[in-house]
Amino acid sequence: MTTEEELTAQIVALGEKVKQAKADKQPKEEWDPFLQEMLALKIQFKEVTGKEYGPPPKEKKAPPAAPTEASEKNKEKRAAKAAAKAAKEAEKERKRAEREAREKAKAEKLAGIGMDSFGDAPMVQSQCYTDKKWFQIDHLTPVLANDTILVRGSLQTSRSVGKGVFVVLRSTMYTVQGVCFQSNDISPEMIKYVAGLPVESIVDVEGVVTVPNQPVEACTQKMVEIQIKKFFCVVKAKKAMPFQIEDAMRPDDSKEADVGAYEANDDAAAPRQDGLPSVGLENRLNNRWVDLRTPANQGIFRIESMVGCLFRECLMEKGFIELHTPKLIKGASEGGAEVFTLDYFGEQACLSMSPQLHKQMACACSGFERVFVTGPVFRAENSNTRRHLCEFTGFDMEMVINEHYDEVLEVFSDLFIHIFDGINERCKKELEAVRAQHPFEDLKYLRPTLKLTYAEGCALLREAGIEQGDYDDLSTENEKKLGDIVREKYDTDFFFMDKYPLSVRPFYTMPDPKNPQLSNSYDFFIRGQEILSGAQRIHEPDLLEERANAWGIDLSTIEEYVDSFRNGAQPHGGGGIGLERVVMLFLGLPNIRKASWFPRDPKRLAP
Ligand code: ATP
Repeated sequence: MTTEEELTAQIVALGEKVKQAKADKQPKEEWDPFLQEMLALKIQFKEVTGKEYGPPPKEKKAPPAAPTEASEKNKEKRAAKAAAKAAKEAEKERKRAEREAREKAKAEKLAGIGMDSFGDAPMVQSQCYTDKKWFQIDHLTPVLANDTILVRGSLQTSRSVGKGVFVVLRSTMYTVQGVCFQSNDISPEMIKYVAGLPVESIVDVEGVVTVPNQPVEACTQKMVEIQIKKFFCVVKAKKAMPFQIEDAMRPDDSKEADVGAYEANDDAAAPRQDGLPSVGLENRLNNRWVDLRTPANQGIFRIESMVGCLFRECLMEKGFIELHTPKLIKGASEGGAEVFTLDYFGEQACLSMSPQLHKQMACACSGFERVFVTGPVFRAENSNTRRHLCEFTGFDMEMVINEHYDEVLEVFSDLFIHIFDGINERCKKELEAVRAQHPFEDLKYLRPTLKLTYAEGCALLREAGIEQGDYDDLSTENEKKLGDIVREKYDTDFFFMDKYPLSVRPFYTMPDPKNPQLSNSYDFFIRGQEILSGAQRIHEPDLLEERANAWGIDLSTIEEYVDSFRNGAQPHGGGGIGLERVVMLFLGLPNIRKASWFPRDPKRLAP
């Protein structure tokens, strides 16, 4: 017969098992049998004992033994020792806190925290929108003398002198000098703060406009300076500069500019003749976000933007509209040339190397008659030259003609004259900023633009003793030489040639009506380098197929192109301009990368 104790022990043991299994998060199937067994034992317990099962009473702990006199004394001793230790710790802690508070106060004073005249401003997080007015640095002139103004800019330089500091503040391509000397209003801590701030931090400066005794030659705003009253850091520059802006904006030194052969890719940091630090092109491009801050770069890209504006302005005035062509296309837009290919949902696609097909379709086949395109053009050519990029900005134009491609050439001539005049008239400060670092001669151009035939150009080269056949392609070197000859003879840096040999032009170029070896095509040049290539295009599908066959092009690859001319297409012509080439050559820059915001070449895909 099972006793009450035995049953209790079994129930307790099973209860423990279930508890443990639950605590271990075991599945119910694991512990349910124990539970069932335990419930059965509880029923048996009632049958055996005649009472409900209750958990066994917990053993009560024996009460602590009564303290003896000796143990009481020990306890008091220990308590006194602990109290002394705690007091010592508290004193130590108080001193540490005091020291920390002193250090914090000192740091805050130096950081200007809690100061109303200098310091680190809270992070701009759109927490307020007040009626504060910030002055643009380029608007600072002596007219504002004695006015209190607020400007925001980058701290280009700071130079301590005795009890004061001189700073140069920069915003876009303009700079102004700020002066801060110890006085009743200006504490030594403020001077220390201003002088100690990392260069290129963004700062808010409040001060009084004054007219200096001598023009401030180092700044664009030479006739004013700011007597600083308040100086707050809005964003601190956190990382050491890859190079100093001052070094990156130094005027070209002839030795540095000459470095590398004509076709070289990089004018690495060659030592300057004047011994000052130089910044090589690779270093500049690797840190383009810093390099772009120089006044010359600010000028270059503001001019480049203006070229876009002038291009659109002139063509829209002449009835053109802007067309956006796809950059993802099925096949190469011009047979044979190297294209970037990519996977397009399992099919091979490529990046457009010209908006040719679509601009022709829009202009000649879709009834828009006059269109232009501005956008990226991709070339997978492994050309490491000073004038080729793998991605450049194409400014393309296409228009219908009534009789002759001269109608197109007149538009191009007007267009370039509008662009050149526009840069000279509207970008004076930008030109000055570029010239200060990269001296160049003004571009000479005639009105209307000088036109030569290809044969005339070749003859000029031969007259100068340079070998050049009328039907041979023009090498880059001969193009440059021809540019020099034309400048000498016609006093212009800008001209174009037409009637190129048919063999050196794309298959869709309209052949010359008289000489089957020539074509109705043209190239435009600035300072002896090509900036535009164009032609009258073939608008008759049969002739298009004939020419494609002559080039050995597989007709199936250009089926859609040819088909677009089968429903009635207007005679037309146009051309493609490389924006970076125009800017580079207008400004006489030695390398196209200097006219590309973030250049892409065979060796560069970042930043
Ligand atoms: P190039 O003979 O100089 O390589 P291209 O004959 O291939 O030029 P097109 O394809 O006719 O030139 O392009 C029209 C214009 O686009 C050129 O006149 C030039 O201004 C510009 N361009 C062409 N290729 C490049 C390139 N790789 N990088 C920058 N601009 C270019």
